[in-house]
Amino acid sequence: MKDCLFCKIINKEIQTNIVYEDDRLLAFNDINPQAPIHLLIIPKLHISTLNHIGLEHKSLIGEMVLLASKLAKDFDISDNGYRTNFNCNSHGGQTVFHIHLHLLGGRKFHWPPG
Ligand code: AMP
Ligand code: ZN
Repeated sequence: MKDCLFCKIINKEIQTNIVYEDDRLLAFNDINPQAPIHLLIIPKLHISTLNHIGLEHKSLIGEMVLLASKLAKDFDISDNGYRTNFNCNSHGGQTVFHIHLHLLGGRKFHWPPG
């Protein structure tokens, strides 16, 4: 989608530090990391928010979660643990309107979140 930052990253119009890519997903380092490991997992299909997913996206969303689990192992944060999260709209703190799964690790996180 034109004017979408993450679609531009997918199309390599904007440079980023890619850690994983296949035909349906991309994962890269967050430009403003909130933990020693902070990756973003995105689908190559443009979906603006979690409010826009449907049953037709069931396997795609599942693949994103499976990739988070794999990358947590690859980045050696799976034993200590990690945080995954999707932000949605204003109250969720979403700033980029192309769904993304945050994978954060390498430090302890608090609950409930601020
Ligand atoms: P959210 O606030 O959940 O929408 O998350 C958007 C994330 O995208 C933030 O953590 C930003 O730091 C990150 N971000 C914004 N621009 C870039 C970029 N060019 N490359 C990598 N991450 C980015
Ligand atoms: Zn997009």
